[in-house]
This record gives sequence, structure tokens and C-alpha cells, in this order.
Amino acid sequence: MTFEGLGIDERLIRATTELGYVNPTAIQEQAIPVLLSGTTDFIGLAQTGTGKTAAFGLPLLHVIDAAAKYPQALVVCPTRELCLQIVKEIELFKKYMTGISVLAVYGGSSIGLQIRDLKRGVQIVVATPGRLIDLIERKAINLEQIKYVVLDEADEMLNMGFQDDIEFILKNTPQRDSTWLFSATMPPEIRKVSKRYMKDPKEVTVGKVNMANKSIDHQYYLTTAQHRYETLKRIIDFNPGIYGIIFTRTKMDAQDISEKLTREGYDIDALHGDLTQGQRDKVMGQFRDKSLQLLIATDVAARGIDVQGITHVINYELPDDVEVYTHRSGRTGRAGNQGICISIIHAKEAYKLKQIERINNSQFHKLDIPSGKDVCRKQFFHFMDKLLSTDISHGDYETYVPMLSERFADVTKEDVLKRVAAMEFDRFLKYYENAEDLNLRDKGRRDITERSGDRNKSRDGGRGDGRKEYSRGGGSGYTRLFVNLGTKDGFFKASFLQFILDMSDLKKEVLGRIDMKDMNSWIEIEKGVAQQMIRSLDGKNYKGRRIRMNDADTGGRR
Ligand code: AMP
Repeated sequence: MTFEGLGIDERLIRATTELGYVNPTAIQEQAIPVLLSGTTDFIGLAQTGTGKTAAFGLPLLHVIDAAAKYPQALVVCPTRELCLQIVKEIELFKKYMTGISVLAVYGGSSIGLQIRDLKRGVQIVVATPGRLIDLIERKAINLEQIKYVVLDEADEMLNMGFQDDIEFILKNTPQRDSTWLFSATMPPEIRKVSKRYMKDPKEVTVGKVNMANKSIDHQYYLTTAQHRYETLKRIIDFNPGIYGIIFTRTKMDAQDISEKLTREGYDIDALHGDLTQGQRDKVMGQFRDKSLQLLIATDVAARGIDVQGITHVINYELPDDVEVYTHRSGRTGRAGNQGICISIIHAKEAYKLKQIERINNSQFHKLDIPSGKDVCRKQFFHFMDKLLSTDISHGDYETYVPMLSERFADVTKEDVLKRVAAMEFDRFLKYYENAEDLNLRDKGRRDITERSGDRNKSRDGGRGDGRKEYSRGGGSGYTRLFVNLGTKDGFFKASFLQFILDMSDLKKEVLGRIDMKDMNSWIEIEKGVAQQMIRSLDGKNYKGRRIRMNDADTGGRR
């Protein structure tokens, strides 16, 4: 199949050919002919990296009326990064079309400037939900004549709590001819939105929904909790050309690890909720243009980030939620490239691997944490490759050769190589001279997964009611707290953990097991800091609701 065969405007074909697109991707092949009609509702279930942006971007440009200078299409997406990315791609696609303008509107930057730009008569508005609602309420954007609404990464938007906003937008576009919804997964909430606001949508699935990308190699390293940081360092050192994202559960971890690694000479920065928009832009800009090799981020801060060419995603810890794992690993292995997703785990987490494998239909490979020698060897060969591939054709090096030859007259070639290696590897060799084995030995994975499975069963006592016998570390050191927040509040386990730790300024090490239900959760926490957590959360507001937190066993009688 070719782009010509799909029936899109010749000017768009010229642009895509220039971008190097030869054949349409699967989602493009199935979406474009339907969307060109402009009147059929469409649901595309596809992961990011499958060419979704062109799948809706090309037909949008095809159906837009360039002569009419008002908003005709609305693309709603979860984050500012994605918003900018979409606009960037649409700009490339419309290179040979005149009279069509596209505008990104998103939170965290001047609304005044965006209002001014809207007045210039744009036809395609790409927006994040929050800012769009803001603009609607200020009457800065007129949705009366919107004919096409595209919801991109709909599941992420719902995960982020934008359901009401999405419905508001759909309700306020009365002249909508068609709605195009793209999502990686199909949770019931999206089904509900589609039933309520879409008419006989044509549904297309590319690959298997919820299936992890096949171009990703899922690997894990087993170590002890106290060796996690050292293992991370070793993984980075073992992959000298790495361009990767490291995920942590809390912003405190992201910050701590980033600071520690920076002090030790690594090229890394952190992305978390405390940064101002300006700081965030700076970090993202550096990472995108590869002047930063590593980015460490929390899930919330990294939402919607789409950077090409990521070689590795590293889970500093496994997330509790399989979906979070899928989102994280999906940052690599995109657009036909191979990617590696590494998880550092300790014995207690091993049972989660099976769960992820089952739901994601993928397989984990256990690797040995490289020894100090392995790291040095790898670094050495990497350096030698770099040395050999260094371009010497441009400089006037010949001029210096006689001088250099004279200077090195008494030094053998072997010696020169040794000296170069010593200069480059001194740090590594010294550091790794007596490096310890970080692997958790003698505990085969099978053994571990079974053991933790059993332990979980016995903890619950088979009641399955969330009231467990709290036994971590002997049990007596822990208090169980009740809180009236749950999954219905839009939390995943990872984001919930991050939330309570951020609020209380505590480290995750103080926590034991967390049980989340729809409306309530139970948190196991070290006795000594239980009151600190209660003080930090009880009585505070979350999305307009008063948080109630108390000792679960005394019912709040303190
Ligand atoms: P997306 O899923 O929209 O984020 O696209 C992933 C990447 O694939 C982007 O870098 C696109 O430029 C690229 N891409 C999209 N469609 C094609 C195509 N038909 N051929 C080659 N590359 C494509």
C-alpha cells in the first residue's frame, strides 16, 4: 500500500515522501481512508510509535477548509510535550499547503499570547484539556464551528483525571461532524465516552491492545534493596552509549539519585513535579538534543514525553501497576527501533514480573549484574571503537605527524595504547578494582516468585478483604493507616505512593504494604513516623475533598 493509494491530497504526499515515509503504517492504512470522509466516527487502538499522529494529521489537513479562517478541528491530548510534538508534525505535513494554520495551546505558558494567536484565524487547535477549558470559559475560543474533534492518548487523559473535561469538550462542540479517538488501551471509561458521544464508530486495533511493544527487550536484574543504587550505576556504566530514561516512584528519589549521579560525574538531570515550566523546558530541551544523556523522572512528570531514539528505559523499581510498566517501557523501541527496558528488582518484587508478563504478553529476561571487570571491558571496547572511528580526514593532522613521531620515537605502539587507555579508564579501573558482586545469588527466579506468591496468600489469611496481617519485618514495627482516597480518585498505586510521600516528606522505605480499594486505602507504615504522615494528610484537601486519615486499628482514637 502507498500513500497515493489511500487517496490523500498530492501536496501531503509530497511532504510525507520528503520526510522519508515510503509506506503507510498499519494504523495509517486503516485510519486514513475512513477519516478522509470527514463524517465517520473512528476509534483507533494503537500504541504511541505506530504513526498515529500522521494517521489523524494527514486526513485533518485534507478535510480542513483553508479559506475559512476559524477553528474547524480540535486535537486534544494529555500533555504539553505531546501538544508541541503534534503541532510540529502537522507543520511538516502541511509544508506544501497554504492558508492553513495550526496552534498549540497548553497550560504553563502565557494564556494572553495564546488568545492573541487564536484571534489570527487558526483552523486546527491542538490543546491540553485544562487550558482548553480555560479558553472556552474565557470565551477566547469559539467551538461553534468545530467539525472534527480528535482525542489523542485518550486513556492517558482519563488516567490523568481529565474525564469531565473531555466530556465538557464533546458536549460543547455541537456542529461536530466526526470524532476520532486514539488510545493505547480500552478501559471501560473510554468505552463509556464513546457510547455516549460517538455514533457507530469504526473501530480499528493495531497490534494487540495492551500488548507491550514487540520491539522491546524486557530485562531484569535481581539485587538486594540496599544495592539498588549501585546496580543502577553499574548498568549505566555497562552501557556507554546509553540514551535513556530512569523511572522512580517518588520525586524525592528522582531528585536524590540525580544529585548523587551528577556528583559522581554522570550526565543526568531530573524531571519532577516541583520544577517550574521554565526549568522543565530547559531539562527537556537538553535531553531532546542529547546534550543530556540520562533523564530521571517520576511517572507523572514524564507523562506524554515523546523523545525519539531512547535506547533504554530503566525502572529503578518496578511499578505496582502493569499499565504504568507499559507506559514506561513504551518510551523506547519506537518507530521500528529496538529498545531495552531494564528493571532493577529485589526478591520481594519478583512476583510482579509474572503479572506483567501475563497481562503484557511479553517475556522478561534475567541478566546477571555485570561484574567490575565486565564493565571495564565494555568501556574499553567502546572507547577503542570511538578511537578507531574518529574522523581524521578534516584536520591538518599531517603537519603534526613528523613532530609527534619524533616525540614518540622511543615509545612503542603498545605503550601509546596503554597510556591512552590509562588516561581514559583510570576512574573506572580504580572504581571497579574491588567491585563486589551485586547479584542476589542462589535464588532462582522460579523459587522467588513462588515464595512471594505464597507469602502474599498467607498474609491475607485468605480473607481477601484488604485487612491483612501486617508482617513485613516482623510486623510489630508497623502501624496500619486508613485513608479515604482510592482508585476512584484517579490514583494508581505508583501515583498514590508518590502523593502520600510528597505530602508527608517521608521516604518510601518507611512504607510496607499498600492496599488500594475504590474509595479507601490502607497503608502500612513504620510506627515512628505514622503520626507524621497522619498530620501531613489528615484534614488536607484533595481535589476539593477533605482527606481523612487515621490509625486503621484504633479507628482514629489517638
Ligand atoms: P507517532 O506514533 O505518531 O508518534 O509516530 C512515531 C514516529 O514514526 C514518528 O517519528 C513519525 O515521524 C514516524 N512515522 C510515522 N508514519 C511513518 C511512516 N509511514 N513511515 C515512516 N515513519 C513514520
